[in-house]
Amino acid sequence: MRYFNTYSRQLEEFTPRGPGSREIDMYTCGPTVYSRAHIGNFRAYIFEDLLQRHLELRGYQVHRVMNITDVDDKTIRGAREAGVPLQKFTAQFKEAFFQDIETLRIKRADEFPAATEPRYIERMIGMIKTLIDRGLAYEAEDKSVYYRINKFPNYGKLAHFNLDQLQSTGRVKHDEYDKEHIGDFALWKAWDEEDGDVKWNSPWGPGRPGWHIECSAMATALLGDQIDIHCGGVDNIFPHHEAEIAQTEGVTGKQFVRYWLHCAHLLVDGQKMSKSLGNFYTLPDVLEKGYTGREVRYALMRVHYRAPLNFTWDGMKEARESLGRIDDWLERLRGIAKEANLEHSTSNAQPPIEESEFEKALDDDLNISGALGFLFETIRETNRAMDHAELGADTATAWLSWWKRINEVLDVEKQDGAVPADIAKLAEARAQARLAKDFRKSDELRDELDARGWEVRDTKDGQKLTRRVGV
Ligand SMILES: [Zn+2]
Repeated sequence: MRYFNTYSRQLEEFTPRGPGSREIDMYTCGPTVYSRAHIGNFRAYIFEDLLQRHLELRGYQVHRVMNITDVDDKTIRGAREAGVPLQKFTAQFKEAFFQDIETLRIKRADEFPAATEPRYIERMIGMIKTLIDRGLAYEAEDKSVYYRINKFPNYGKLAHFNLDQLQSTGRVKHDEYDKEHIGDFALWKAWDEEDGDVKWNSPWGPGRPGWHIECSAMATALLGDQIDIHCGGVDNIFPHHEAEIAQTEGVTGKQFVRYWLHCAHLLVDGQKMSKSLGNFYTLPDVLEKGYTGREVRYALMRVHYRAPLNFTWDGMKEARESLGRIDDWLERLRGIAKEANLEHSTSNAQPPIEESEFEKALDDDLNISGALGFLFETIRETNRAMDHAELGADTATAWLSWWKRINEVLDVEKQDGAVPADIAKLAEARAQARLAKDFRKSDELRDELDARGWEVRDTKDGQKLTRRVGV
C-alpha cells in the first residue's frame, strides 16, 4: 500500500507508526460552521471516508477525529451579523453538517471535538504558554500572541518553500502591524469590540485562540503527540497545516504526523466555485435537482483525489447511469444465485474472489478510477456471460460476495425502504409538533427529513414516509 505524502512529495509505502500495529490514528480537519458546507468541502470528506474504508478493508482499525471549528473570524462575523450568540449561530450549521454526511453515507468519525469546549481552550492556552517559554512565540503590543516562524527551522517544509519567499506573498493585514515577521501567525487574538461577548481569559488578557492552534490542541488531546495520517484539502496545506506542525512539534519535540494527504479542488463547469458566479452548491441544492445522496457520493468519489474534479450536471447524469448499471447487474446476479439455491446445484463450485484489481488499484494511492474501471469491466464481462446463459450460480454467488466486500469501501448500493431509527424519531417529533399545533416546528422537521432524503406526507391516519428513490 502506498500513498502520496505531501511532506515528501512522494509516493510512500504505508506502514503504521507502531511496528506490526493494526491501529491507525487519523486526524481530518472538519468544517468551520459559519454556513452550510458546499460540495467542494464534501469532496474532501468523501476522499477521507474512502481512505478510512480502504485502510479498514486492509485490516486496519482506524481511530479518526474530525474537529469542528466553531470559533474563528468567520463564525464571529456571522453571529454578529445575524444578531445571535455564537453558540446558537454555529449550532444550526453543525446540525446541517451531520445531516449532510449522513445523506452522503460518510462514516462518522469516532470523535467530533469542538474548539470552544473548555478542555480544549485550556489546552490551547497551555500549548501557547509552552511556546512562549521556548522562545517560539511572543506577546505583541496589542496583547495578541504570535508564533515566531524564524525560530522553527522546519517551517515551510510541508508547503515546500523557504521563508524569504513569504515576503512576497503579500499576506499583510492592516491589524497585524506589530508582528516581528510578516509570516508570524496568531496563536491568541486579543479581544476587540468586534468580538462582542466571545472571549476567554488567558495570561495575556481576554481573547480567543487562533484557528491553527485549535487543531494542534484537539489532535494531541485525543490522539496523542504523534499521529499516523492527517488529511485535508490542498487549501489547508498553507498556512493551516504548516502552522499545525510548527505549533505541535514546537511543544512536543516529536514528529507530529507521518503521512500528510491532501485532496485537490473541486471545480464547477471548469471554474472555481463562488457565490458571485452562481455556481456555488450545497448538498440540498443538488438534491433539489432530483439527485440522491448516493449519486452525489459517487460523483464526488470517482475521480482520483489528487486530480481536480470538475462537477457538472452531465457528470451527475453519468453518475446516475453508472449506479443504474451496478443496480441492474446485482439484480441479475441475485436472480441467478437464487435459482441455483432452489436447485441445490453445487457442481463446479467457484472459489470466492479474494483479491482483484479493484483492491490493488486502491492500494496504489487510492486509484479509484482504476478500481472502478475493473468493476465495470467485470460487469460487462459477466453480463455478456449471463446473456448467453453461461454464468453459473456459483460464479454469481462468488461475485456477489466480492461485491459485498468492495461495497464496504464504495457504499453506493441502493438501500431498501426500511426506516432507520433516527429518521423514525424525527418523524415522531414532527407528528407531536403537529398535534401541539406548533407548525413552525413541524415544518422545520419536515425540511430536515427532506434534507435527509425522506419525504413525509400527511394522511388520514397519520403521516407516511417515503424514501426518495435510490437514496
Ligand atoms: Zn485543522
